[in-house]
Amino acid sequence: MTERFAVIGDPIAHSLSPTMHTAAFKAAGIDAVYEAHRVVPDMLGRHVHHLRSGYSGFNVTIPHKEALFTELDEIHGAARELGAVNTVVIRNGVLSGWNTDPAGFTASLSTAGFDARGSHAFVFGAGGGARAVVHALVRLGASIDLANRHIDRAHSLARSFRSHIRVVADGDVLDALAGAELVVNCTPLGMSHVPNLSPLPLGATLSPDALAFDLVYGRRTPFLREADQQGCRTLDGLEMLVQQGAESFRLWTGAEPDVDIMRQSCLHLLEERACSAS
Ligand code: NAP
Repeated sequence: MTERFAVIGDPIAHSLSPTMHTAAFKAAGIDAVYEAHRVVPDMLGRHVHHLRSGYSGFNVTIPHKEALFTELDEIHGAARELGAVNTVVIRNGVLSGWNTDPAGFTASLSTAGFDARGSHAFVFGAGGGARAVVHALVRLGASIDLANRHIDRAHSLARSFRSHIRVVADGDVLDALAGAELVVNCTPLGMSHVPNLSPLPLGATLSPDALAFDLVYGRRTPFLREADQQGCRTLDGLEMLVQQGAESFRLWTGAEPDVDIMRQSCLHLLEERACSAS
C-alpha cells in the first residue's frame, strides 16, 4: 500500500520538501507520496488528528514547530531540548516528535570538510535556527560567540544551554568575528524580502581560513558574497535543508536516502523558480 507523508505549515507553497522527498522515495524504490498541507494555526489539532490515521509521518514548519508539542505522544532527543519539532514519525497511531535540524547542520559541516571540534564559531541570530545550530555546535565541542539584534534574546538562548556561550555586544562584534573559524548567519537577512542586507557590520574582517555558513538558501546572499570576497569558503542553507530532510527520511524508513538526488531535485526546482521569476 502507498505510504503517505506530508509537510505542514503556513505558508507552505514555497517548501522544497515535497520535491526532495518525492525524489528520495522514488530513488529508494519506496511506494510513497509526499504532500504539502497548508495548515492555519486554528486547524492544527484537527489536521494532526487527520494525519494520525492515514499517514506514516510528516514534517513541520513555521508556525507549528513549537505548538505541535501538545499533539504528540512522544518527544525525542533534540526536539525536547530545543522545544521545537520538525519531524513526526507515526507508527500504529503513535506520534513521535523529532528535530533533525541540528543533525542537518552537523552533516552539512562534514560535507564541507569542516571539523568543528575545538573550533571557534560565531553565530548571528537567536531564533529557532540559531538554537538548532548552537545545539549542534555545543555537541561538537566548539566555543561559541553569539550576537543578536535584541541582545536579551541572545542571553536567554545562551542561558538555556549548560555550556558557556559568550554573548557578544555590538561593540565587540568586529573583534570576535576576526578570530572566528566558522561564521553562521541564522537571521533572515539576505532573503527575498531583505535581499540587500547582511548580518556583517561595516568594516567586518573575516579570517580567510573561515567557513561562512548562511542558513538562508536559494540565493547568493550579501553575507556569502562578502565572505567570498574576503577569501572564505562559503556554504548556503540548502545543504542543511537537504541534510535535515535526509535525517527525517532515515527516521521514517530506516533506509539510507540518496542525498545527492535530494540535493539535485532542490537545485533543479530553485533554478526553475528563478527562471520563471525573471
Ligand atoms: P526566527 O526564529 O524568526 O529568528 C529570526 C532571527 O533573525 C532572530 O534572531 C532575529 O532577531 C533575527 N532577525 C530578524 N530580522 C532581523 C533584522 N532585520 N536584522 C537583524 N536581525 C534580524 O527565524 P529562524 O527560524 O531562526 O530562521 C532564520 C533564518 O534561518 C531564516 O532565513 C530561515 O529560513 C533560515 N533557516 C534555514 C534552515 C535550513 O535548513 N537551511 C533551518 C532553519 C532556519 P531578534 O531576536 O532581534 O528579532
